[in-house]
Amino acid sequence: MKILVINCGSSSLKFQLINSENEDVLAKGLCERIGTKESVINYTPMGSEKKSFDIYMPDHSKAVETVINFLTDENMGVVKSLDEIDAVGHRIVHGGEKFNSSVVIDDEVIKVIEECNDLAPLHNPANIIGIKACKEVMPDTPQCGVFDTAFHQTMPKKSYLYGLPFEYYEKYKVRRYGFHGTSHSYVSKRCADLLNIPYDNSKIIVCHIGNGASICAVKNGESVDTSMGLTPLEGLIMGTRSGSIDPAIIEFIMKKENLTIDEAMNVLNKKSGVYGLAGIGSSDFRDILKAVEEGNKQAADTLEAYCYNVVRYVGAYIAAMNGVDAIVFTAGVGENNPDIRKIVCSYLGYMGIEIDDEKNGMRGEEMVISTDASKVKVLVIPTNEELKIALETKELVSK
Ligand code: AMP
Repeated sequence: MKILVINCGSSSLKFQLINSENEDVLAKGLCERIGTKESVINYTPMGSEKKSFDIYMPDHSKAVETVINFLTDENMGVVKSLDEIDAVGHRIVHGGEKFNSSVVIDDEVIKVIEECNDLAPLHNPANIIGIKACKEVMPDTPQCGVFDTAFHQTMPKKSYLYGLPFEYYEKYKVRRYGFHGTSHSYVSKRCADLLNIPYDNSKIIVCHIGNGASICAVKNGESVDTSMGLTPLEGLIMGTRSGSIDPAIIEFIMKKENLTIDEAMNVLNKKSGVYGLAGIGSSDFRDILKAVEEGNKQAADTLEAYCYNVVRYVGAYIAAMNGVDAIVFTAGVGENNPDIRKIVCSYLGYMGIEIDDEKNGMRGEEMVISTDASKVKVLVIPTNEELKIALETKELVSK
């Protein structure tokens, strides 16, 4: 089956056309600055270079139409006609408590996703625009929704309740939801397969550390705890997000700096994390590490705080699961940065964890990076959310 995977942001649309039989990516790309005169599409058909085209895309419908035109183009296309696309899989950020698995999208499902908009006001409306745009351009092609939150719906109450008046949960569904679920689910399952251990009888901790970052405790194939919360702001120190802080800091800083609540939230989302801590004008770990090498003390403290926060959650989740079989690193930082993996694991020596430096230095492939003697396996597994969305979509439409 050929599955078009769509990930819509408020002014962007990422896409991949995947052959779900052999998992080939037939083409991929990104439409950016949708709604402006500067809109542009990057397009990479399989086996060719990425190319950029300035095409005016006033809205997401035009963006979907443009994507289809490229995919079916006589010269650059990878399919002859729209009919070859069997289904569309949409990444949807927040499914609240309503979705614990992927679904085939109909009008009723769209209504329910819209009911979750409050919980992800920046993301869900954009996802819905993407769904509606695809329905307009491909009315006869089945569409499925794959939710970032769905995998975490197995968390027990003790993991997802906050210490707040219970009525906030009852009235507004204020609770931990967790995100990156598609990645945590894909990576933990790959880990069990690679180690040849039964997924439904395993204890795996996934460290999805990229620009956004979250850790998940996966016990017997189910998420039992995760570091992000009601929103993706909670948990680890991230690229520009603060992660968990004392909530009283918000009022304190608002008064000191004379900020509105919107300004304060902007600081927590966009100006904090390693960007705010290191103070070198970048949230990219390559820049932070370069600054550390050049002797920048503030950057070195940032790196230490960052790694220590990862360890805090890993330690907590080992306790929560009463043990761990494997710890997996994934996403931009987790896949590419041997130093951070090494620092995190150096705290876990008491668990009998030992890293093989040579293996830890390798890049871009699935790999066990712990020594044979290590009591707990440590792995690097590149995440592949698009493939997971394509496979879930295939399964749904094949039923
Ligand atoms: P993601 O959100 O998963 O795409 O991760 C993006 C982040 O990964 C970037 O902001 C970088 O901080 C980090 N990253 C990517 N490549 C490297 C690398 N070679 N070394 C260190 N960090 C990297």
